[in-house]
Amino acid sequence: MTFELSERVQTVPPSGIRRFFEIAEERDDVISLGVGEPDFATPWAARDAAITSLEQGKTSYTANRGTRELREAISEYVADRFGLGYGPDEEILVTAGASEAVDLAFRAFVDPGDTVAIAQPSYISYEPGVIFAGGETLPVPTTEADDFRLTVDALEDAGAGDADMLVLCYPNNPTGAIMTEADLEPVAEFAREHDLTVLSDEIYAELTYDVDESHSSARKTESSAGNEHVSIASFDGMRERTIVFNGFSKAHAMTGLRLGYALGPAKAVNAMNKIHQYTMLSAPTTAQHAALEALESCENEVREMVDQYDRRRQFVLSRFREIGMDVFEAKGAFYCFPEVPAGFTAEEFAEAVLREQGVAVVPGDVFGEGGDGHLRVSYATGLEELREALARIEAFVDEHA
Ligand code: PMP
Repeated sequence: MTFELSERVQTVPPSGIRRFFEIAEERDDVISLGVGEPDFATPWAARDAAITSLEQGKTSYTANRGTRELREAISEYVADRFGLGYGPDEEILVTAGASEAVDLAFRAFVDPGDTVAIAQPSYISYEPGVIFAGGETLPVPTTEADDFRLTVDALEDAGAGDADMLVLCYPNNPTGAIMTEADLEPVAEFAREHDLTVLSDEIYAELTYDVDESHSSARKTESSAGNEHVSIASFDGMRERTIVFNGFSKAHAMTGLRLGYALGPAKAVNAMNKIHQYTMLSAPTTAQHAALEALESCENEVREMVDQYDRRRQFVLSRFREIGMDVFEAKGAFYCFPEVPAGFTAEEFAEAVLREQGVAVVPGDVFGEGGDGHLRVSYATGLEELREALARIEAFVDEHA
């Protein structure tokens, strides 16, 4: 038979939100709060650097690991911003989006039969990535009662101590939860105690809110400054067991340029590069030029976007509360995660509010355990549209709930 699908491909179900796109196409007035990408254009200086590189004919492959200049800039940036020490030679790999880095890590470190614990709800790509690599997943549910932070109790209840690897995503997609230094410490201890490899997806690291003003522009090096992002790799004994993923899609509004990176000990990054050099060769060259400029000169634009997300975040949270929907105080990324009113499942609510009011949100179940009964609402959309979308949700709730 031709094209007999591999078991791994058959095992992964189609994306749970596809149906919603089909419904959305039936109306022409849909406001989408469903997507996880910035509505901002890439900062101009970064676009300009990409254009200039094209004009100069810089259209060849780069080194497999990414250009030396970009790796040096990343090395300085993560040191300066998050107190992380990764050298440009063998500890940084530039990839086609953080997505490629995540996939490489699963392929480099997961053997058939290995178990990968995943703190959930979380980004939808981890589970398929583990399955494509031949591993098994172990969901570790987080709860609203814990502000969707990962706790050692949750790890123990799920039996994560017996897993081989642990995937974390903070600031979190879809809940908007963050983990402070105090929250992370016991998780780091658990990982050390049980000898877990940790994959930490920190792509939303720049997007945290309610940051202690006295530290807001500070370059964190010592301790958690309010809600400033803290990497689990910065704890004692964690650097040697952690891969950090980051990229330019979110903070620098560069989703379409497809550029991310992995940070880790040389042994791990070299293993990932082994796959990358055969399957990708090098990350997009034009995007690497844009990214270098983004790190060198676009900090103000990033701060401005973060301010705007914060204003939207506060607006959306307060509107959900006015509407009478419970919503947890999201402190990071660009999502909030309200509870659906009684009488609805998340999927029923999401489908009905889309059909009747033309507002697209994503049911929380899609993101794994702990997500049921919630909606992921992205506020990476302008305030005017958010205002209209929330008015429509209010009309829907007034009518049905
Ligand atoms: N990780 C998380 C948590 C995300 O939300 C996303 C994008 N939605 C990605 C990774 C993928 O990012 P990239 O565009 O860099 O591949």
